Amino acid sequence: MKFGTKAIHEGLNVDLPTGAIIPPIYQTSTYIQKTPGDHHGFEYSRTQNPTRTALEKNIAAIENAKFGLCFASGMAAIDTVCKLLVPGDEVIANNDLYGGTYRIFTKIYANYGIKFHFAEMDNAGSIEELVNDNTRLIWIETPTNPMMKIIDISMVSGIAKKNNILFGVDNTFATPYLQRPMDLGADIVMHSVTKYLSGHSDVILGVLVCNDEELAEKLAFIQNTCGGICGPQDCFLVMRGLKTLHIRVQRHSENGRIVAKYLKSHPKVDKVFWPGFEDHTNHVIAKKQMDDFGGMISFVLKEHSMDAAKELISKTKIFKLAESLGGVESLVGHPASMTHAAVPKEEREKSGLVDTLIRLSVGIEDAEDLIDDLKQALG
Ligand SMILES: *Cc1c(COP(=O)(O)O)cnc(C)c1O
Repeated sequence: MKFGTKAIHEGLNVDLPTGAIIPPIYQTSTYIQKTPGDHHGFEYSRTQNPTRTALEKNIAAIENAKFGLCFASGMAAIDTVCKLLVPGDEVIANNDLYGGTYRIFTKIYANYGIKFHFAEMDNAGSIEELVNDNTRLIWIETPTNPMMKIIDISMVSGIAKKNNILFGVDNTFATPYLQRPMDLGADIVMHSVTKYLSGHSDVILGVLVCNDEELAEKLAFIQNTCGGICGPQDCFLVMRGLKTLHIRVQRHSENGRIVAKYLKSHPKVDKVFWPGFEDHTNHVIAKKQMDDFGGMISFVLKEHSMDAAKELISKTKIFKLAESLGGVESLVGHPASMTHAAVPKEEREKSGLVDTLIRLSVGIEDAEDLIDDLKQALG
């Protein structure tokens, strides 16, 4: 089955006497048992809920994975992966991670005796030199946030497999429509479903998918034990959003291409970071592992001052100034003070995230209006 068909149908055939085409919102905490242990597979909604199960199956299907688990947020999903680790374990991650991921690693789990290394992952050597007997997890995001670097998923997966290390990919920026890390050797794929998968800026939710049954059981054990689950209402909203994921991402990518090209040609713009440009450092890898380049773009102005960056950000009208990304509406953000404020300035600048960097999440409005908005804001 092709992507769009799967997004619309897979996992959603909740067997019902009414024949409802849409899985209902099972707003229930518990389920009646005939005699102890005699039930329909559902005992208590922290453990399982039919609305959540439908969503979990649906997302697993579009990521080409067997198992899916949904959580209260993307961070609750990452938290669950961290709980696979024990004191003494080491983790290698790319050096321009989402600020919240950097924060949970360095401010929470580092206190529990887990060691984190951050690497520029443009070549195998920079990862391999950090691998030792304690390395348990390699965690990457690609495209990276906000520098839009591309990491070769197959290359990293090769290193992980050779050294028997668990390999997780945060696929939030790319979406499974553009990139399927499971097919390239990832053990776990994670999403902030809040972003493109949900797509309508109205829900916070996270997901993990995997193929290994034992791993899925461990993750489900943590999910049930620690309880970071999402409610059925939110699952319903996400299922509704997912039905148009393929159409939305096509349009995000089309608009992204138009906006990136416009910015690149503008005399006031210095650099534009978008993996679709042939002169982007990692364009060849992007072309190899992605089906298109999406709607996330970062750029810096020729005038390297905070005032100039702030002025531009405050002047856009359609591009709303807000955290988050991946919704149908276009957003503009200032990573250094917003999404990446949790990352120390020295760390930020190591990966090229200067204070004057501006990030766009290009929505699915009419491209002409988006260009007009940027034109007036750039003055
Ligand atoms: C937003 C985001 C997260 C965190 O997800 P929440 O749903 O906000 O908890 C993790 N990774 C990336 C790449 C994100 O953009």
